[in-house]
Amino acid sequence: MTAPWHVEFLKAIDVGEPIYRRCGACDAVGWPPRRSCPECGEPEMVDAPLSTRASVVSHTEITATIPKFSGETPYTVLIAEFEEGVRLTGQLRGEETIDRGDDVELGVERRDEDDWIVTFTPA
Ligand SMILES: [Zn+2]
Repeated sequence: MTAPWHVEFLKAIDVGEPIYRRCGACDAVGWPPRRSCPECGEPEMVDAPLSTRASVVSHTEITATIPKFSGETPYTVLIAEFEEGVRLTGQLRGEETIDRGDDVELGVERRDEDDWIVTFTPA
């Protein structure tokens, strides 16, 4: 099951307006969301718009996984970094291979009522 803040975040991606959180005082990225700034302790964390395009920083092919995803192997999971400094993990869509530094487009897939996953499609 996906955490409530994560569902909110994924729904924002789904409508094409992704967001992340940053500190209202020092501008540090607070991602994943937390109660206060990881840099200065400021409790005022604010929503900010997140780019939809990111750059691949690492990727790996998954051949063995938990039962929920077992019918889908092999698939590629990658970590992408946004210009805002946020890093997200998601599943690759649309291509079988990807390289470090490639641009990818952020997306989301709803698997059931409150179970969503982040996806990346080569840009
Ligand atoms: Zn701060």
